[in-house]
Amino acid sequence: MQFGEVSALMDGQKVVIERLSASFRNKRIGHAYIFDGERGTGKETIALFYAKLLLCENTETSVPCEICHSCRRVTSGNHPNVTIIRPDGQNIRKEQMDNLIAEMTKKGYERGRKIYIISQAERMNIAAANALLKYLEEPEGDVTAILLTDSYASILPTIQSRCQRISFLPPSREAMIAKLMDRGITASMAATVTMVTANVEAAFQLAEDDVFAQMRKTVLKLMEASDRHVHEALLFIQSEWSRIFKEREETDRGLDLLLYAYRDIAASKAELESTRAFPDEKEFLDGLAMKITYSQLSAMMEAVLQAKRRLHSNMNRTLLMEQLVLNLQEGLLVV
Ligand SMILES: [Zn+2]
Repeated sequence: MQFGEVSALMDGQKVVIERLSASFRNKRIGHAYIFDGERGTGKETIALFYAKLLLCENTETSVPCEICHSCRRVTSGNHPNVTIIRPDGQNIRKEQMDNLIAEMTKKGYERGRKIYIISQAERMNIAAANALLKYLEEPEGDVTAILLTDSYASILPTIQSRCQRISFLPPSREAMIAKLMDRGITASMAATVTMVTANVEAAFQLAEDDVFAQMRKTVLKLMEASDRHVHEALLFIQSEWSRIFKEREETDRGLDLLLYAYRDIAASKAELESTRAFPDEKEFLDGLAMKITYSQLSAMMEAVLQAKRRLHSNMNRTLLMEQLVLNLQEGLLVV
């Protein structure tokens, strides 16, 4: 992969790349790093980018040349100085770690720095983690460890304290939407689920979930019912809404979706080109945006936030939603 492609892929991780390049330029290469960030943020790609940089035969630049013998061998997975460890089944086992350490401490058949990358480092079992810890406590020679994890808190604190933490930003919402659409999710559903979570995998599961699709539809129906008449909205709460949103967590999610709909209205009023949560309802929400003033909109959003707060006081949830509908109508009376 050319650096140009990496940089296009990793557009969201410029800060990380800059930090690693700077440590190389300043000859302050760490003994151990933890790259932490959600799945799909390019941790392994950037770990290999860094390995290439550290081993590249053309040392004048702060990016790997990609064409020297060394760079090409890292790319093809054949560089003897670069080792990647992955879970063997559920865990990374002590035996794997022992083999790795033996490999790292073996004296020089290949010159230069050795780099080992531990993928899904949170899956090290306790014996493996302790073996690694012992090795990290006695750093020797030109060896650099890169631990990759999407669960920083699951790494032993004693290991954390011996590593430089490099945090990866979650992918941009636009990038996530594109990824989800590549996997067959509709543009409108992708736009909604990426409001709910910044984790691509979680977003994909949500997008495939029939219950969530039902929730989404019901929230939009509530918007429509509230736009017509308060009685219709109250009836809707008692019949359809209560059937879909039973538990507290579900209601909380419903209220979040409602907030996203009001956010779409706000974006429409401000003529912002931001990515909508409900692009499929653009016409309807734009119509509401024309009717509602800013102060009405803010009163309505405050009403939803208040309902969210009340949700935690064990109030009857149907009652809470009926009260919300009344408050939303009242919001319309604000001048
Ligand atoms: Zn090179």
